[in-house]
Amino acid sequence: MLPNSGDDYTSLFLALRIDFGFSRPLNTSRYGKKKQPSFSILPTVHCILLTAYCSLFTVHCLLLTVHRILITGILPSMTPHSIYLHIPFCQHRCNYCDFNTYARLEKLIPGYVDALIKEIQILAAGLGQPLPVHTIYFGGGTPSLLPAHAFEKILQTLDAAFDLEIPIEINLEANPGTLSLPYLRALKEIGFNRISLGMQSAHPDELVFLERLHDYVDVVEAVKWARQAGFDNLSLDLIFGLPEQQIDVWRDTLDLALRLTPEHFSLYALTIEHGTPLGHWADRGLIPEPDPDMAADMYELACETLSGAGYVQYEISNWAYSSSVERGASSECLSTLHAPRSSPPLACQHNLQYWRNRPYLGLGAGAHGFADGIRTINVLSPRSYIQRFSTCNLQPANSFPRAPATIEANPIDRDTEMRETMLMGLRLTRAGVSDERFRTRFGISINEVFGDEISELVKWGLLEWVGEILRLTPRGRLLGNQVFMHFV
Ligand code: SF4
Repeated sequence: MLPNSGDDYTSLFLALRIDFGFSRPLNTSRYGKKKQPSFSILPTVHCILLTAYCSLFTVHCLLLTVHRILITGILPSMTPHSIYLHIPFCQHRCNYCDFNTYARLEKLIPGYVDALIKEIQILAAGLGQPLPVHTIYFGGGTPSLLPAHAFEKILQTLDAAFDLEIPIEINLEANPGTLSLPYLRALKEIGFNRISLGMQSAHPDELVFLERLHDYVDVVEAVKWARQAGFDNLSLDLIFGLPEQQIDVWRDTLDLALRLTPEHFSLYALTIEHGTPLGHWADRGLIPEPDPDMAADMYELACETLSGAGYVQYEISNWAYSSSVERGASSECLSTLHAPRSSPPLACQHNLQYWRNRPYLGLGAGAHGFADGIRTINVLSPRSYIQRFSTCNLQPANSFPRAPATIEANPIDRDTEMRETMLMGLRLTRAGVSDERFRTRFGISINEVFGDEISELVKWGLLEWVGEILRLTPRGRLLGNQVFMHFV
Protein backbone atom coordinates (compact mmCIF):
# COMPACT_ATOMS: atom_id res chain seq x y z
CA MET A 1 0.00 0.00 0.00
CA LEU A 2 1.19 3.49 -0.78
CA PRO A 3 1.87 6.01 1.95
CA ASN A 4 -1.15 8.11 2.76
CA SER A 5 -3.07 6.01 0.34
CA GLY A 6 -6.67 5.98 1.31
CA ASP A 7 -7.74 5.05 -2.20
CA ASP A 8 -6.56 2.04 -4.10
CA TYR A 9 -7.15 3.80 -7.42
CA THR A 10 -4.19 6.07 -6.82
CA SER A 11 -1.95 3.11 -6.07
CA LEU A 12 -3.08 1.40 -9.21
CA PHE A 13 -2.56 4.52 -11.29
CA LEU A 14 1.00 4.71 -10.07
CA ALA A 15 1.52 1.01 -10.64
CA LEU A 16 0.35 1.45 -14.25
CA ARG A 17 2.79 4.31 -14.78
CA ILE A 18 5.64 2.11 -13.77
CA ASP A 19 4.55 -1.02 -15.61
CA PHE A 20 4.43 0.85 -18.88
CA GLY A 21 7.95 2.09 -18.23
CA PHE A 22 7.55 5.83 -18.67
CA SER A 23 8.33 6.89 -15.16
CA ARG A 24 11.94 7.92 -15.74
CA PRO A 25 15.15 6.83 -17.51
CA LEU A 26 17.10 3.75 -16.50
CA ASN A 27 19.40 4.09 -13.53
CA THR A 28 22.96 3.09 -14.14
CA SER A 29 24.74 4.09 -10.95
CA ARG A 30 25.76 1.83 -8.13
CA TYR A 31 22.49 2.43 -6.31
CA GLY A 32 19.18 2.56 -8.11
CA LYS A 33 17.20 -0.07 -9.93
CA LYS A 34 16.85 -0.57 -13.63
CA LYS A 35 13.29 0.04 -14.74
CA GLN A 36 12.24 -2.21 -17.60
CA PRO A 37 8.82 -2.33 -19.21
CA SER A 38 7.05 -5.30 -17.65
CA PHE A 39 5.70 -6.68 -20.92
CA SER A 40 6.72 -5.90 -24.44
CA ILE A 41 4.74 -8.22 -26.81
CA LEU A 42 1.03 -8.82 -26.46
CA PRO A 43 -1.54 -10.06 -28.93
CA THR A 44 -2.80 -7.02 -30.84
CA VAL A 45 -6.48 -7.26 -29.91
CA HIS A 46 -5.75 -7.91 -26.32
CA CYS A 47 -3.38 -5.00 -26.38
CA ILE A 48 -5.91 -2.58 -27.91
CA LEU A 49 -8.61 -3.56 -25.40
CA LEU A 50 -6.21 -3.37 -22.54
CA THR A 51 -4.90 0.00 -23.71
CA ALA A 52 -8.44 1.40 -24.04
CA TYR A 53 -9.36 0.09 -20.63
CA CYS A 54 -6.20 1.45 -19.08
CA SER A 55 -6.65 4.83 -20.74
CA LEU A 56 -10.13 5.18 -19.29
CA PHE A 57 -8.98 3.94 -15.97
CA THR A 58 -5.93 6.19 -16.03
CA VAL A 59 -8.10 9.26 -16.70
CA HIS A 60 -10.35 8.24 -13.84
CA CYS A 61 -7.40 7.76 -11.53
CA LEU A 62 -5.73 10.92 -12.73
CA LEU A 63 -8.83 12.87 -11.72
CA LEU A 64 -8.71 11.22 -8.32
CA THR A 65 -5.04 12.03 -8.08
CA VAL A 66 -5.57 15.68 -8.99
CA HIS A 67 -8.38 15.83 -6.46
CA ARG A 68 -6.08 14.36 -3.84
CA ILE A 69 -3.26 16.78 -4.66
CA LEU A 70 -5.66 19.70 -4.39
CA ILE A 71 -6.92 18.49 -1.06
CA THR A 72 -3.74 17.29 0.59
CA GLY A 73 -0.90 18.90 -1.32
CA ILE A 74 1.78 16.78 -2.95
CA LEU A 75 1.07 13.11 -3.44
CA PRO A 76 3.41 11.40 -0.96
CA SER A 77 4.40 8.46 -3.09
CA MET A 78 5.37 10.71 -6.03
CA THR A 79 7.27 13.17 -3.88
CA PRO A 80 10.95 12.36 -3.50
CA HIS A 81 11.53 11.43 0.13
CA SER A 82 14.62 11.79 2.25
CA ILE A 83 15.96 9.26 4.72
CA TYR A 84 17.67 10.14 7.99
CA LEU A 85 19.48 7.36 9.86
CA HIS A 86 20.51 8.12 13.42
CA ILE A 87 23.76 6.61 14.73
CA PRO A 88 23.66 7.26 18.51
CA PHE A 89 27.25 6.37 19.43
CA CYS A 90 30.06 8.69 20.49
CA GLN A 91 33.53 8.08 21.90
CA HIS A 92 32.83 10.65 24.58
CA ARG A 93 29.78 12.72 25.46
CA CYS A 94 30.67 16.40 25.04
CA ASN A 95 29.60 18.65 27.90
CA TYR A 96 27.21 20.78 25.83
CA CYS A 97 25.53 17.96 23.92
CA ASP A 98 21.84 17.19 24.34
CA PHE A 99 21.47 14.94 21.29
CA ASN A 100 20.31 11.38 21.68
CA THR A 101 23.76 9.89 21.82
CA TYR A 102 25.74 7.60 24.16
CA ALA A 103 29.38 6.98 25.00
CA ARG A 104 30.87 3.54 25.65
CA LEU A 105 28.06 1.64 23.90
CA GLU A 106 30.08 0.73 20.82
CA LYS A 107 29.59 -2.97 21.55
CA LEU A 108 25.97 -2.49 20.50
CA ILE A 109 26.94 -1.38 16.99
CA PRO A 110 26.57 -4.77 15.20
CA GLY A 111 23.11 -5.37 16.71
CA TYR A 112 22.13 -1.78 15.99
CA VAL A 113 23.09 -2.11 12.31
CA ASP A 114 20.98 -5.29 12.07
CA ALA A 115 18.05 -3.43 13.64
CA LEU A 116 18.41 -0.54 11.18
CA ILE A 117 18.35 -3.00 8.31
CA LYS A 118 15.19 -4.57 9.70
CA GLU A 119 13.55 -1.17 10.14
CA ILE A 120 14.26 -0.33 6.49
CA GLN A 121 12.80 -3.64 5.31
CA ILE A 122 9.74 -3.33 7.53
CA LEU A 123 8.97 0.22 6.42
CA ALA A 124 9.34 -0.75 2.77
CA ALA A 125 7.10 -3.81 3.28
CA GLY A 126 4.39 -1.52 4.63
CA LEU A 127 4.36 0.45 1.37
CA GLY A 128 3.50 -1.92 -1.45
CA GLN A 129 5.69 -0.11 -3.96
CA PRO A 130 9.13 1.50 -3.70
CA LEU A 131 9.19 5.06 -2.46
CA PRO A 132 11.36 7.51 -4.44
CA VAL A 133 14.29 8.68 -2.32
CA HIS A 134 16.67 11.49 -3.25
CA THR A 135 18.78 12.04 -0.12
CA ILE A 136 20.21 9.78 2.58
CA TYR A 137 21.78 11.28 5.67
CA PHE A 138 23.66 9.44 8.42
CA GLY A 139 23.66 11.71 11.46
CA GLY A 140 24.42 11.31 15.12
CA GLY A 141 26.10 10.87 17.35
CA THR A 142 29.23 9.97 15.46
CA PRO A 143 28.28 7.90 12.41
CA SER A 144 31.96 7.64 11.45
CA LEU A 145 32.35 5.13 14.31
CA LEU A 146 30.61 2.54 12.12
CA PRO A 147 32.85 0.38 9.92
CA ALA A 148 32.55 0.94 6.17
CA HIS A 149 31.12 -2.57 5.60
CA ALA A 150 28.20 -1.71 7.92
CA PHE A 151 27.32 1.29 5.73
CA GLU A 152 27.60 -0.90 2.67
CA LYS A 153 25.05 -3.34 4.11
CA ILE A 154 22.69 -0.52 5.03
CA LEU A 155 22.97 1.18 1.64
CA GLN A 156 22.41 -2.09 -0.18
CA THR A 157 19.28 -2.64 1.90
CA LEU A 158 18.05 0.86 1.13
CA ASP A 159 18.70 0.27 -2.56
CA ALA A 160 16.67 -2.93 -2.51
CA ALA A 161 13.85 -1.39 -0.47
CA PHE A 162 13.39 2.03 -2.08
CA ASP A 163 13.63 3.67 -5.47
CA LEU A 164 16.90 5.57 -5.07
CA GLU A 165 17.02 8.46 -7.49
CA ILE A 166 19.98 9.46 -9.60
CA PRO A 167 21.65 11.72 -8.62
CA ILE A 168 21.24 11.02 -4.93
CA GLU A 169 22.96 12.84 -2.06
CA ILE A 170 24.45 10.42 0.49
CA ASN A 171 25.88 12.29 3.45
CA LEU A 172 27.90 11.23 6.47
CA GLU A 173 28.38 13.29 9.61
CA ALA A 174 31.91 12.63 10.85
CA ASN A 175 34.19 13.70 13.65
CA PRO A 176 37.65 14.67 12.40
CA GLY A 177 39.63 12.39 14.74
CA THR A 178 37.70 9.28 13.65
CA LEU A 179 38.73 9.29 9.96
CA SER A 180 41.55 7.82 7.88
CA LEU A 181 42.35 7.79 4.17
CA PRO A 182 41.47 4.07 3.65
CA TYR A 183 38.18 4.56 5.51
CA LEU A 184 37.23 7.60 3.41
CA ARG A 185 38.19 5.75 0.22
CA ALA A 186 35.93 2.88 1.26
CA LEU A 187 33.04 5.29 1.95
CA LYS A 188 33.47 6.92 -1.45
CA GLU A 189 33.56 3.54 -3.10
CA ILE A 190 30.26 2.47 -1.54
CA GLY A 191 28.44 5.62 -2.64
CA PHE A 192 28.89 8.46 -0.14
CA ASN A 193 29.29 11.80 -1.89
CA ARG A 194 29.09 14.36 0.92
CA ILE A 195 30.86 14.59 4.28
CA SER A 196 29.87 16.94 7.06
CA LEU A 197 32.81 17.42 9.44
CA GLY A 198 32.33 18.59 13.03
CA MET A 199 35.24 21.03 13.16
CA GLN A 200 33.57 23.41 15.71
CA SER A 201 36.64 25.59 16.35
CA ALA A 202 40.28 25.97 15.35
CA HIS A 203 41.28 27.11 18.80
CA PRO A 204 42.72 24.41 21.11
CA ASP A 205 41.35 26.00 24.31
CA GLU A 206 37.84 26.18 22.87
CA LEU A 207 37.97 22.57 21.74
CA VAL A 208 39.10 21.56 25.23
CA PHE A 209 36.34 23.67 26.80
CA LEU A 210 33.76 21.89 24.59
CA GLU A 211 35.39 18.53 25.42
CA ARG A 212 35.91 17.73 21.77
CA LEU A 213 38.48 15.00 21.19
CA HIS A 214 40.09 16.43 18.04
CA ASP A 215 42.29 19.41 17.22
CA TYR A 216 42.70 21.61 14.15
CA VAL A 217 45.41 19.33 12.73
CA ASP A 218 42.89 16.45 12.72
CA VAL A 219 40.53 18.63 10.69
CA VAL A 220 43.27 19.53 8.19
CA GLU A 221 44.13 15.85 7.77
CA ALA A 222 40.49 14.80 7.46
CA VAL A 223 39.91 17.36 4.69
CA LYS A 224 43.13 16.33 2.90
CA TRP A 225 42.18 12.64 3.03
CA ALA A 226 38.62 13.35 1.94
CA ARG A 227 39.92 15.21 -1.11
CA GLN A 228 42.36 12.38 -1.88
CA ALA A 229 39.49 9.92 -1.61
CA GLY A 230 37.57 11.95 -4.20
CA PHE A 231 35.02 13.87 -2.11
CA ASP A 232 34.16 17.17 -3.75
CA ASN A 233 31.36 18.18 -1.39
CA LEU A 234 32.57 18.86 2.15
CA SER A 235 30.85 20.83 4.85
CA LEU A 236 32.40 22.18 8.05
CA ASP A 237 30.35 22.72 11.23
CA LEU A 238 31.49 25.58 13.47
CA ILE A 239 30.22 26.82 16.85
CA PHE A 240 30.35 30.42 18.01
CA GLY A 241 29.09 32.41 20.98
CA LEU A 242 30.99 30.43 23.63
CA PRO A 243 31.12 31.98 27.12
CA GLU A 244 33.80 34.71 27.14
CA GLN A 245 34.76 33.96 23.53
CA GLN A 246 36.61 36.87 21.93
CA ILE A 247 35.60 37.98 18.46
CA ASP A 248 39.22 37.83 17.28
CA VAL A 249 39.39 34.15 18.15
CA TRP A 250 36.20 33.56 16.19
CA ARG A 251 37.73 35.47 13.25
CA ASP A 252 40.76 33.15 13.41
CA THR A 253 38.51 30.09 13.35
CA LEU A 254 36.68 31.42 10.30
CA ASP A 255 39.96 32.21 8.53
CA LEU A 256 41.49 28.81 9.31
CA ALA A 257 38.30 27.05 8.21
CA LEU A 258 38.26 29.02 4.95
CA ARG A 259 41.82 27.90 4.21
CA LEU A 260 40.44 24.38 3.92
CA THR A 261 38.15 25.51 1.05
CA PRO A 262 35.08 23.43 1.95
CA GLU A 263 32.04 23.66 -0.30
CA HIS A 264 29.71 24.38 2.60
CA PHE A 265 29.53 25.79 6.12
CA SER A 266 27.03 25.23 8.95
CA LEU A 267 27.42 27.71 11.82
CA TYR A 268 25.62 27.42 15.14
CA ALA A 269 25.50 29.65 18.19
CA LEU A 270 26.16 27.65 21.35
CA THR A 271 23.03 27.19 23.42
CA ILE A 272 23.47 25.98 26.95
CA GLU A 273 20.91 23.23 27.43
CA HIS A 274 19.49 22.25 30.79
CA GLY A 275 20.55 18.81 31.93
CA THR A 276 23.95 18.97 30.25
CA PRO A 277 27.17 19.40 32.27
CA LEU A 278 27.53 22.88 30.77
CA GLY A 279 23.98 23.66 31.93
CA HIS A 280 24.82 22.57 35.49
CA TRP A 281 27.97 24.70 35.51
CA ALA A 282 25.99 27.72 34.29
CA ASP A 283 23.25 27.10 36.91
CA ARG A 284 25.88 27.05 39.66
CA GLY A 285 27.56 30.20 38.34
CA LEU A 286 30.77 28.39 37.41
CA ILE A 287 30.68 29.71 33.85
CA PRO A 288 28.97 32.81 32.47
CA GLU A 289 26.03 32.49 30.08
CA PRO A 290 26.99 33.32 26.47
CA ASP A 291 26.58 37.02 25.64
CA PRO A 292 23.80 37.33 23.02
CA ASP A 293 25.10 40.70 21.74
CA MET A 294 28.55 39.25 21.20
CA ALA A 295 26.98 36.23 19.49
CA ALA A 296 25.09 38.59 17.15
CA ASP A 297 28.35 40.41 16.32
CA MET A 298 30.00 37.07 15.59
CA TYR A 299 27.13 36.06 13.35
CA GLU A 300 27.42 39.30 11.39
CA LEU A 301 31.17 38.85 11.10
CA ALA A 302 30.59 35.35 9.72
CA CYS A 303 28.04 36.67 7.19
CA GLU A 304 30.53 39.27 5.93
CA THR A 305 33.53 36.95 5.93
CA LEU A 306 31.83 34.06 4.16
CA SER A 307 30.13 36.31 1.65
CA GLY A 308 33.50 37.93 0.87
CA ALA A 309 34.97 34.47 0.30
CA GLY A 310 32.32 33.46 -2.25
CA TYR A 311 29.80 31.63 -0.07
CA VAL A 312 26.10 32.31 -0.46
CA GLN A 313 23.94 32.19 2.63
CA TYR A 314 20.84 30.20 1.81
CA GLU A 315 19.60 29.42 5.32
CA ILE A 316 19.94 31.16 8.68
CA SER A 317 22.87 28.91 9.66
CA ASN A 318 24.09 27.61 6.30
CA TRP A 319 26.29 28.81 3.46
CA ALA A 320 27.27 27.12 0.19
CA TYR A 321 30.08 28.06 -2.15
CA SER A 322 28.75 29.44 -5.41
CA SER A 323 30.14 30.54 -8.74
CA SER A 324 30.47 34.26 -9.37
CA VAL A 325 27.42 34.13 -11.69
CA GLU A 326 25.36 32.61 -8.90
CA ARG A 327 26.64 35.15 -6.40
CA GLY A 328 25.80 38.00 -8.78
CA ALA A 329 22.23 36.77 -8.96
CA SER A 330 22.17 36.58 -5.20
CA SER A 331 23.28 40.13 -4.51
CA GLU A 332 21.10 41.46 -7.29
CA CYS A 333 18.08 39.87 -5.72
CA LEU A 334 18.46 42.00 -2.62
CA SER A 335 17.82 45.14 -4.61
CA THR A 336 15.32 44.01 -7.23
CA LEU A 337 11.98 42.29 -7.22
CA HIS A 338 13.41 39.11 -8.69
CA ALA A 339 14.42 36.75 -5.92
CA PRO A 340 16.07 33.47 -6.92
CA ARG A 341 13.62 30.62 -6.48
CA SER A 342 16.21 28.07 -5.61
CA SER A 343 19.06 27.53 -3.22
CA PRO A 344 22.65 27.25 -4.54
CA PRO A 345 23.64 23.90 -6.10
CA LEU A 346 25.97 22.99 -3.23
CA ALA A 347 23.29 23.54 -0.58
CA CYS A 348 22.62 20.48 1.56
CA GLN A 349 19.79 18.80 -0.33
CA HIS A 350 18.83 16.70 2.67
CA ASN A 351 18.36 19.65 5.00
CA LEU A 352 16.48 21.53 2.28
CA GLN A 353 13.92 18.76 2.49
CA TYR A 354 13.27 19.67 6.15
CA TRP A 355 13.13 23.39 5.46
CA ARG A 356 10.68 22.85 2.62
CA ASN A 357 8.61 20.70 4.96
CA ARG A 358 8.86 17.77 2.59
CA PRO A 359 8.64 14.13 3.69
CA TYR A 360 11.46 12.16 5.25
CA LEU A 361 11.79 8.89 7.10
CA GLY A 362 13.61 8.94 10.44
CA LEU A 363 15.29 5.60 11.20
CA GLY A 364 17.23 4.59 14.28
CA ALA A 365 16.98 5.31 18.01
CA GLY A 366 15.25 8.60 18.76
CA ALA A 367 14.89 9.53 15.07
CA HIS A 368 12.02 11.77 13.97
CA GLY A 369 10.22 11.36 10.66
CA PHE A 370 7.50 13.08 8.65
CA ALA A 371 5.81 11.05 5.97
CA ASP A 372 2.29 10.44 4.78
CA GLY A 373 1.15 13.44 6.84
CA ILE A 374 2.34 11.80 10.08
CA ARG A 375 5.18 12.87 12.35
CA THR A 376 6.86 9.88 13.98
CA ILE A 377 9.33 9.50 16.83
CA ASN A 378 11.33 6.36 17.56
CA VAL A 379 12.20 4.95 20.96
CA LEU A 380 15.24 6.76 22.38
CA SER A 381 17.37 4.00 23.90
CA PRO A 382 19.60 2.07 21.46
CA ARG A 383 19.10 -1.10 23.56
CA SER A 384 15.30 -0.81 23.39
CA TYR A 385 15.56 -0.02 19.69
CA ILE A 386 17.54 -3.20 19.04
CA GLN A 387 15.17 -5.20 21.24
CA ARG A 388 12.11 -4.05 19.31
CA PHE A 389 13.52 -5.47 16.10
CA SER A 390 14.89 -8.68 17.58
CA THR A 391 11.48 -10.32 17.83
CA CYS A 392 9.19 -8.50 15.38
CA ASN A 393 7.75 -9.69 12.11
CA LEU A 394 7.00 -7.76 8.96
CA GLN A 395 4.35 -5.08 9.39
CA PRO A 396 0.85 -5.34 8.03
CA ALA A 397 0.00 -3.24 4.98
CA ASN A 398 -1.11 0.33 5.68
CA SER A 399 1.19 0.63 8.67
CA PHE A 400 3.55 3.06 6.93
CA PRO A 401 5.26 5.17 8.27
CA ARG A 402 5.02 3.38 11.62
CA ALA A 403 7.53 0.67 12.52
CA PRO A 404 8.09 -1.41 15.68
CA ALA A 405 10.41 1.28 17.09
CA THR A 406 7.77 4.03 16.75
CA ILE A 407 6.66 5.43 20.10
CA GLU A 408 4.71 8.39 18.70
CA ALA A 409 2.81 8.85 15.44
CA ASN A 410 0.97 12.16 15.25
CA PRO A 411 -1.14 13.01 12.22
CA ILE A 412 -0.54 16.59 11.10
CA ASP A 413 -3.65 18.54 10.18
CA ARG A 414 -3.70 21.07 7.34
CA ASP A 415 -3.51 24.12 9.62
CA THR A 416 -0.44 22.73 11.41
CA GLU A 417 1.20 21.79 8.13
CA MET A 418 0.72 25.33 6.81
CA ARG A 419 2.25 26.80 9.96
CA GLU A 420 5.16 24.38 9.85
CA THR A 421 5.72 25.20 6.18
CA MET A 422 6.03 28.88 7.12
CA LEU A 423 8.20 28.24 10.17
CA MET A 424 10.69 26.13 8.31
CA GLY A 425 10.52 27.86 4.91
CA LEU A 426 11.30 31.26 6.40
CA ARG A 427 14.63 29.87 7.55
CA LEU A 428 15.60 29.83 3.87
CA THR A 429 17.08 33.29 3.62
CA ARG A 430 17.24 33.28 -0.17
CA ALA A 431 14.37 31.17 -1.40
CA GLY A 432 12.01 31.97 1.50
CA VAL A 433 8.43 30.74 1.11
CA SER A 434 7.04 30.94 -2.40
CA ASP A 435 3.41 31.98 -2.53
CA GLU A 436 3.02 30.07 -5.78
CA ARG A 437 4.26 26.83 -4.21
CA PHE A 438 2.21 27.44 -1.10
CA ARG A 439 -0.92 27.82 -3.27
CA THR A 440 -0.07 24.67 -5.22
CA ARG A 441 0.34 22.75 -2.00
CA PHE A 442 -2.56 24.10 0.05
CA GLY A 443 -4.90 25.69 -2.49
CA ILE A 444 -4.80 29.07 -0.75
CA SER A 445 -2.38 32.00 -0.70
CA ILE A 446 -0.04 32.82 2.18
CA ASN A 447 -1.71 36.19 2.67
CA GLU A 448 -5.16 34.66 2.95
CA VAL A 449 -3.96 32.52 5.85
CA PHE A 450 -1.38 34.71 7.57
CA GLY A 451 -2.15 38.21 6.23
CA ASP A 452 -2.30 39.93 9.65
CA GLU A 453 0.90 38.38 10.96
CA ILE A 454 2.78 39.14 7.74
CA SER A 455 1.64 42.80 7.59
CA GLU A 456 2.86 43.33 11.11
CA LEU A 457 6.24 41.67 10.50
CA VAL A 458 6.73 43.57 7.23
CA LYS A 459 5.91 46.83 9.08
CA TRP A 460 8.58 45.99 11.68
CA GLY A 461 11.13 45.36 8.93
CA LEU A 462 11.54 41.68 9.74
CA LEU A 463 9.89 40.17 6.65
CA GLU A 464 9.82 41.30 3.03
CA TRP A 465 8.04 40.35 -0.16
CA VAL A 466 10.42 39.95 -3.10
CA GLY A 467 8.10 39.22 -5.99
CA GLU A 468 6.02 36.26 -4.88
CA ILE A 469 8.67 35.21 -2.33
CA LEU A 470 8.21 35.99 1.35
CA ARG A 471 11.45 35.95 3.31
CA LEU A 472 13.35 37.36 6.26
CA THR A 473 15.07 40.73 5.93
CA PRO A 474 18.72 40.92 7.05
CA ARG A 475 17.38 42.27 10.38
CA GLY A 476 14.83 39.47 10.53
CA ARG A 477 17.65 36.93 10.29
CA LEU A 478 19.02 38.21 13.60
CA LEU A 479 15.57 38.08 15.19
CA GLY A 480 14.35 34.89 13.58
CA ASN A 481 12.75 33.48 16.72
CA GLN A 482 10.54 36.56 17.10
CA VAL A 483 9.35 36.09 13.53
CA PHE A 484 8.76 32.35 13.90
CA MET A 485 6.68 32.84 17.08
CA HIS A 486 3.98 34.44 14.91
CA PHE A 487 3.46 31.20 13.02
CA VAL A 488 3.45 28.77 15.95
S1 SF4 B 1 30.51 14.35 19.18
FE1 SF4 B 1 28.63 15.51 18.68
S2 SF4 B 1 26.95 14.08 19.04
FE2 SF4 B 1 28.76 13.23 20.05
S3 SF4 B 1 28.62 13.96 22.15
FE3 SF4 B 1 29.89 15.43 21.04
S4 SF4 B 1 28.44 17.01 20.32
FE4 SF4 B 1 27.25 15.21 20.92
